[in-house]
Amino acid sequence: MYDIAIIGAGINGCSVAYEFANSGKKVILFDEQGVAGGGSGAAGAFISPKFSKAGDLKELLHDAFVYSLDFYEKNFPSYLTKAPLLHIAQDEEDSAILKYYKLNTSFALKTPSNTVLNSLRAEVKMQENLCMDGGVVDASGVCYAMSKSLKFVQEKVKTLVEKDAMWVLNEKYLATHVVFATGAYESILKEPYIKLRGVWGHRIDIKTTTQNTSSIHQFVSISPSKNGVLAIGATHNVHYHPQLATMPYEVEEGRLELLEKASRTLKLDNIEILKDYTGLRSGSFDYLPLVGKLVNSEQTLAQKNGNFKTKNPNYESYAYYPNLYMINGSGGYGFVLAPYLAKMLREFVLEDKKIDARVNPARFFARWAKKI
Ligand SMILES: Cc1cc2nc3c(=O)[nH]c(=O)nc-3n(C[C@H](O)[C@H](O)[C@H](O)COP(=O)(O)OP(=O)(O)OC[C@H]3O[C@@H](n4cnc5c(N)ncnc54)[C@H](O)[C@@H]3O)c2cc1C
Repeated sequence: MYDIAIIGAGINGCSVAYEFANSGKKVILFDEQGVAGGGSGAAGAFISPKFSKAGDLKELLHDAFVYSLDFYEKNFPSYLTKAPLLHIAQDEEDSAILKYYKLNTSFALKTPSNTVLNSLRAEVKMQENLCMDGGVVDASGVCYAMSKSLKFVQEKVKTLVEKDAMWVLNEKYLATHVVFATGAYESILKEPYIKLRGVWGHRIDIKTTTQNTSSIHQFVSISPSKNGVLAIGATHNVHYHPQLATMPYEVEEGRLELLEKASRTLKLDNIEILKDYTGLRSGSFDYLPLVGKLVNSEQTLAQKNGNFKTKNPNYESYAYYPNLYMINGSGGYGFVLAPYLAKMLREFVLEDKKIDARVNPARFFARWAKKI
């Protein structure tokens, strides 16, 4: 019997598993595709804040960026490459945002080094840019390291049944608490208010004689080079979904697109493609993640005094599944958010601390129930 079962071994599931195992809890982690077999294994895993003018996501990512960079450095230093983060404006609108951000941020900004400036295309040097300290994580490596000392089962969780104050998974495994960390992949959780969209991404590792010392973000993300190898990634192909598509993803087309976009920024010489990584990342419809306990919509709708057409719903009055939680919808920032959100979830479950209302999944129930 386990204290906690986690479904999904991407960066979210592995971060939650790590948090609970470190608190002395008996953890079991499931993934049908293996550790980091989903979107997490494909990620460039850049650790960056969000460069925008304002908003909840920007604020959340600011805190998560500071927390997670420190978390990886302290706990998984061999999987973190600290490198300057150079963000270059794509267009006029982006340029205005960067200018605003630079004037208003509390982060220390840097001047890009001459080495990195010299590797950029001449026209790109003229664009507005922002440079600060950041990092890149070894995506699969860190997921494996987080889950190394706990029970991992490579199995699809097909059934989850509540019995005698316990959850029974696949008619075999017992756990008191269950966390869904299933990303954009089809979930066995059938709650109509939980809607996530999957965005397909592609990353390539290439060998090149071009030396790059920063992580560069413009049309795509380009990692610093290590032993002559650098990664180029983007979650650009929003129209492709492996579970819905009738045709396979065109890898060659994706490669050409990534190389063309990276070459608009950086002079890339003597290229050899070494490896492709593809996967889905999941985003929510308000772009903020979902972390916390799960509303049972059927039971909540049946509540006698349930008034859902209200401006300020009281989430506490809803009926929840006992000891059932989720962590999902991190968009393109899963590696920035996961350690921060996993800590939040652990403190909520074990220490009864409040979940940040901005990420509470109950907000989606409230919006959905208002409409029906
Ligand atoms: C190309 C690309 C580049 C990216 N770059 C960055 C970046 O630079 N920085 C950043 O922070 N983020 C980046 N992201 C986003 C980041 O990868 C995601 O936010 C993150 O991986 C989400 O993690 P997750 O654990 O929620 O989902 P996933 O990693 O997708 O994990 C979910 C897992 O659940 C498993 N699963 C689902 N249902 C079941 C079931 N019933 N039983 C068993 N297992 C199940 C799946 O097999 C899957 O492995 C990128 C994504 C992509 C695709």
